[in-house]
Amino acid sequence: MANIKLAQMDGGTVELPPEALQAFRTAFKGPVLAPEDPAYEEVRKIWNAMIDRRPGLIARCSGTADVVQAVRFARQHRLLCSVRGGGHNIAGLSVCEGGLMIDMSLLRGVWVDPTGRRARAQAGCTLGDVDRETQLHGLAAVLGFVSATGIAGLTVGGGFGYLTRRHGWTCDNLISMEVVTADGSVVQASAEQNAELFWALRGGSGNFGIVTSFEYRLYPVGPEILGGAIAWQGKDAKEVLEAYRKFSAEAPRELTSVAVLRIAPPAPWLPKEVHGQPIVAIFVCHSGKIEDGEALLAPLRATGRPLADIVTRRPYVQMQSLLDATQPKGRRYYWKSHYLPGIGPEMIDTAVAHAARIRSPHSAILMFQIQGALGDLPAEHSPAGNRDAAYVLNITGSWEKPEDDEINIRWARDCFEATRACSTGGTYINFLTEEEGADRIEAAYGRATLDRLAALKRRYDPENLFRHTKSVCG
Ligand SMILES: Cc1cc2nc3c(=O)[nH]c(=O)nc-3n(C[C@H](O)[C@H](O)[C@H](O)COP(=O)(O)OP(=O)(O)OC[C@H]3O[C@@H](n4cnc5c(N)ncnc54)[C@H](O)[C@@H]3O)c2cc1C
Repeated sequence: MANIKLAQMDGGTVELPPEALQAFRTAFKGPVLAPEDPAYEEVRKIWNAMIDRRPGLIARCSGTADVVQAVRFARQHRLLCSVRGGGHNIAGLSVCEGGLMIDMSLLRGVWVDPTGRRARAQAGCTLGDVDRETQLHGLAAVLGFVSATGIAGLTVGGGFGYLTRRHGWTCDNLISMEVVTADGSVVQASAEQNAELFWALRGGSGNFGIVTSFEYRLYPVGPEILGGAIAWQGKDAKEVLEAYRKFSAEAPRELTSVAVLRIAPPAPWLPKEVHGQPIVAIFVCHSGKIEDGEALLAPLRATGRPLADIVTRRPYVQMQSLLDATQPKGRRYYWKSHYLPGIGPEMIDTAVAHAARIRSPHSAILMFQIQGALGDLPAEHSPAGNRDAAYVLNITGSWEKPEDDEINIRWARDCFEATRACSTGGTYINFLTEEEGADRIEAAYGRATLDRLAALKRRYDPENLFRHTKSVCG
């Protein structure tokens, strides 16, 4: 057998003799995939097809002990390594070129304590895995909008979804985590144990260690809620967004809504004659009493002439996957994002103008309402911060062919620049693209939080083993 060549942290490479690899395979229980293994191609591929990196090895962890072995192996040979949860990061942070991918995606156990209203979930879970188990008990964690997304990347970067207005960032609802740190130790992080590490991991992204499981606080939700979407023709977008601004600003925390401007997909809930035409849609989820939700929705339903209205009583798990079909794995994606303090006339006009210039039937401009419980906590509560944000604006370029990259990326960048003046100045770390570096990372955290994160990084990962993430080191 030949030597294996692997990328190292400092940019160089190391050639490992077959015995070194064999020793690692023996110590590691899960599959270790090299490029010639049949399973390698599928595992290395992530959600965003724009990212096409090939790790030298993929270590598919079967438990915490495997994570420790992978960290030790990486340190011993100074390997470049990346950590894969659900593989949904837009910047492709989970896959490194030539190094060691530490893959957590086989670890998908969820244990629910219905009496204590808490759940422990392994770090390879998707949002759907957790919702499925917690909803058996009429409970839910605060998670995001697309069920195939990984809980790990989402949680360590902050996390928001339909329950954020009621209960804050996903990471505000963490009780504890089990973490493998850069020196290969297994530690608990909570308010009582390793409190500084616990703080850093609630928004500080993948810089501080590999979380093997998350313990979340749960809340009674559903199992049926009032939710769905209402759609109008694109020519009515200005009127609908003005109604949305008022409707969402007045809505109680039980009601969360998302505005979407895009070309109508060939979805069965939309009339055939609008497929391929511009539309504006408002997705809503009311997690309080169904009757209260019906009354609250009346003004939105009375706006203009809706093309379709599928807001109905439905299982919460169904609501949690309503947007899934719009975000399949394997398309090309490029996002730009700001936090918004509100939706003013300039934001509406700019969104409408740029929606008219969308270059792909899969691209969209989305505004997610998040204001509410976030603002109940002080800014320094967690690095996720940005507690003054009322909405997340995400400009999501999405298309199929590499030859269309330039035109779609240009569209997203133009819309981003045009909406800059409408932003709080902050941005979401989990929505940053590959090219977005130090200035955008500072926009995500603010200077004071970033300095505190950098000091903790020096303490917990002095060699910067966990560098294949949005770095807090400047
Ligand atoms: C279709 C889609 C919908 C989305 N919707 C939402 C949403 O509704 N709300 C929201 O908040 N975000 C949303 N996001 C953003 C999402 O939170 C980030 O993309 C997040 O990084 C995805 O997590 P993952 O585990 O799938 O990522 P991966 O790509 O697997 O990992 C991303 C990074 O997270 C870190 N990481 C992964 N696993 C671990 C671990 N075990 N321990 C420590 N660090 C780890 C690493 O730095 C890694 O490089 C969405 C993304 C997509 C693509």
